[in-house]
Amino acid sequence: MNCEEIQAQLDTYVEGELTGPERAVVTAHLATCAACRRRADTLEQMAGLLHQLPREPAPEDLSTRILAAVEAKRRTAPVWSSRRVIIAAGSLVAGLLAVWLAFETALAALEGGVMEFVALLTSRPETLMAYPQEALYALMEAVPATELVFMLGMVLIALVLLNQVLAIPGNGRLQGWTRNGAG
Ligand SMILES: [Zn+2]
Repeated sequence: MNCEEIQAQLDTYVEGELTGPERAVVTAHLATCAACRRRADTLEQMAGLLHQLPREPAPEDLSTRILAAVEAKRRTAPVWSSRRVIIAAGSLVAGLLAVWLAFETALAALEGGVMEFVALLTSRPETLMAYPQEALYALMEAVPATELVFMLGMVLIALVLLNQVLAIPGNGRLQGWTRNGAG
């Protein structure tokens, strides 16, 4: 083995983890190579110093203190992330649009004669029953289908966005982790 290969094994050699013929090879090399011996001496000194250092056990309340610090940071952290604010604003706008479209739909329905149709249906249903096809056409004309579709679509968008706002994890996940970690 050359010096490079020997020095690659010096760490394990110094720590006493190199055994068998490999250890004998390194020992034999060190007996003849001053450069590698110096390297081994340095490593031995460093290992000795490390082993002399007093082994301080971690304070028993370390985990408690870390968890308390995490909890304190969680309390001061803003609960509302910017993403949540943006989606909430979108949800609010969509909700207001849905209300406005509902009014528009109601107005269009009145203009289209829905009330007259209903009045006719309640007062003289036999007239409508006699001409079901015409009655169906009249109803289709009276009902503002476009406005109705727009309104329902906007309601759907508002609901989806609202659901997103509620689905964004705020601090619930961290709280669960803290509980698990402490328990
Ligand atoms: Zn050497």
